Amino acid sequence: MIISTIGSHSALQILYGAKQENFATKIYCLEGRDKLYKRYPVADEIIILDSYEDLLKLPPDKKEIFIPHGTLIAMLGEKIEEIQIPIFGNKVGMLWEMNREKNLHLLSEAKIRVPRTMHPENIDDLVIVKFPGAKGGLGYFTCSSTEEYKHKITELLRKTKITKLDVKNAQIQEYIIGVTMYPHYFYSPIYDRVELLGIDRRYETNVDALGRLSQSTFSIEPSYKVVGNQPLIARESLLPEILDYGDRLKEAALKLFPPGLIGPFCIEMAITTGEIVAFEFTSRIVAGTSLFVGGSPYSQMLFNEEMSMARRIVREIKMAMGQRRLQKVLT
Ligand code: AMP
Repeated sequence: MIISTIGSHSALQILYGAKQENFATKIYCLEGRDKLYKRYPVADEIIILDSYEDLLKLPPDKKEIFIPHGTLIAMLGEKIEEIQIPIFGNKVGMLWEMNREKNLHLLSEAKIRVPRTMHPENIDDLVIVKFPGAKGGLGYFTCSSTEEYKHKITELLRKTKITKLDVKNAQIQEYIIGVTMYPHYFYSPIYDRVELLGIDRRYETNVDALGRLSQSTFSIEPSYKVVGNQPLIARESLLPEILDYGDRLKEAALKLFPPGLIGPFCIEMAITTGEIVAFEFTSRIVAGTSLFVGGSPYSQMLFNEEMSMARRIVREIKMAMGQRRLQKVLT
């Protein structure tokens, strides 16, 4: 069996994890990106593509399992449905992830507190305006009134940073003031359990740099483009609720789009002084998991061996193959 992915996001971790489990590996890259994957001994085969869309044309292969990640979602969007190579996880979950309304709907169905959403004419609080796609927070802005919203949208359109369609599909969310935390969950259909394998916090530019300047002197628009990730360990008393959120999301997904979430998922949350608020879920591996190629404190306690998210995925594939239940984890 060959484990494949596209060259970006968490590809190095994915290929390394597959190697740890003794699988052959293949990577699909755009021209130029192959240089990176030649520098690490993790890809047995490197295939150059002219565009990400070429992936859709590749015929299904019974001997290959494709591991999806954030770049796939950002670059192909709903076209992921057309991928013919079997992929690990539930494609329907990924479609729910891409649609902002559905994304919050699933979290609400799981009885997880989410930010209020507002119409442009009814902005009554500090809000964050989020555009479609997993582009790492690119172009998001904050504002606190309808006038300010209109002014900023006009400017972004004028500078062609966004399109009219982006404006139509933008979501206006209550801005949550809290410490952001991104727990890495894994739902194992084989063990029928949700595991917590690690937690990270994103390092975002320039919002994470603004604290170094006096805001009374400068008026700089924060942006949320991820540049990297930092490991995080949660205060132990927060863990029961964090684990409960994972269990509830898995249950709600099973109800709304059976068989629900398969494998890795993440709930993007902010811990405020009084509660845990979630602003998004993802239904595939998140980039912050690459912090834990050698395992995290949580995965160490669970498996007592180096268990990255990628290795966990491939271990699940291996167990499913051993039990002749591979179809349970693929779509
Ligand atoms: P997202 O595209 O939902 O992953 O958001 C990108 C970044 O924007 C997050 O990592 C947060 O730092 C920030 N963010 C998103 N939604 C909110 C919110 N409702 N309140 C505060 N910050 C947010």
